[in-house]
Amino acid sequence: MDLFNHPILCNSCTALTNLGSINREGFQIRTLECPQCEKVIYHPLDIKEYEKFKKLKNKDFGVKLRFVGNSYCVSIPRQIIRYFEHESQNKKTVKMSIEGPDKIVMYFSEEIYKDGN
Ligand SMILES: [Zn+2]
Repeated sequence: MDLFNHPILCNSCTALTNLGSINREGFQIRTLECPQCEKVIYHPLDIKEYEKFKKLKNKDFGVKLRFVGNSYCVSIPRQIIRYFEHESQNKKTVKMSIEGPDKIVMYFSEEIYKDGN
């Protein structure tokens, strides 16, 4: 049960809030917007998920490269795998592409690369 699915009154002016959403760096964050005083309430679970992402995003990981046959192997830190856990479970392949002269991007979710490309 999600509280946002029920009618919620603004705690500043008691007007009925409208359900909406905003997009932050690809994250859909559900909101309740007050039509009277324009106060915006963010869904706590969406904010939590976004904060987790921001914390990881601002972190640099130094990882080792190993040669295995004709390929390089890169270990992905546990923190990152944990973050993508719901996407990476039972997954044997990910999409990888070159995004710049010195940048490789990995896509854990099909949805992300459908939107991105
Ligand atoms: Zn209000």
